[in-house]
Amino acid sequence: MALYSVNSAGRSLLAQNGRYKLRWRSAYVATLCDLESKSLLLTQQKWNDSWEGLRAALVIAHPGHELRIHHWLERSKPQVFVLTDGSGLTNSSRTHRTEALLELATAVKGPIFGSVSDKQFYEAIVAGDADLFVALSHDLATALDESGVDYVVGDAVEGVEPGHDVCRLIVNAAVKRIEASCGRRLGNFEFLVEGPPDACPPAGRDQAIVVTLDEEAYRRKLEAARAYPELAIDVERQVNSHGADAFRVEYLLPVRYDFEIASRFDHPAIYESRGEKLVAKGVFAEAIRFRRHIAPLAARLERDAGTSIR
Ligand SMILES: [Zn+2]
Repeated sequence: MALYSVNSAGRSLLAQNGRYKLRWRSAYVATLCDLESKSLLLTQQKWNDSWEGLRAALVIAHPGHELRIHHWLERSKPQVFVLTDGSGLTNSSRTHRTEALLELATAVKGPIFGSVSDKQFYEAIVAGDADLFVALSHDLATALDESGVDYVVGDAVEGVEPGHDVCRLIVNAAVKRIEASCGRRLGNFEFLVEGPPDACPPAGRDQAIVVTLDEEAYRRKLEAARAYPELAIDVERQVNSHGADAFRVEYLLPVRYDFEIASRFDHPAIYESRGEKLVAKGVFAEAIRFRRHIAPLAARLERDAGTSIR
């Protein structure tokens, strides 16, 4: 039996075996299906004026993405979900670095927190084994629902890292699933993990959450990045490409798509050529392709997202 299979009731066995035991419940649970809920009313408002004090969740593919939106994290103290352990091509998880960062920011570790290795994640995509991703979307939907989250923030689709794009599909599936269950539509936001952090398209500006860092918040963000030695090369690369000042603002952009992601990046995706190089080096047997691997996975998540949580 696969670790991540889904049983006949549509409930992930990961959730069933207790490893994903929920730790974050609240009185919100009683009012989740109340159509008068604050989050529904907020769809009519500008989020930027209203996000503080609301219950937030952060969902990222890899530990370390939280550095990009460090000040938002400090201020919103979200429940944080991390899909993989960030081990990449090594056998070393880096989730402990994110745990330490969350502790400093008094944010909350969610019930999905790096239990899958990057290798497992990659291999499941290549094998077309969608059960892992469906199970993660089920667990995420259940956790967000039971925690009474008002809005969720996660990786954007950029066509750079397949894990990031799949993370977004999982978040969108969870949001859809909650909506299919009780009509409650969570606020859904994304941030660029690779692209320029200070980019905010005019179309989404009026509904974006914009967090501007003062000198002290910027200093803490740099400090948090320095405390993450596994990401030192990535941080240096990103500062060189975008400039250090680009990290003084954090944009959380409203997500205006569900599962149709082909138009969100140029083709072939950057990860396809990177994958080919890794195949040539003998690291992987097959490169991840958008059409062959990601598009069918998106279709499976879309089919499943219409099913009820309960
Ligand atoms: Zn990543």
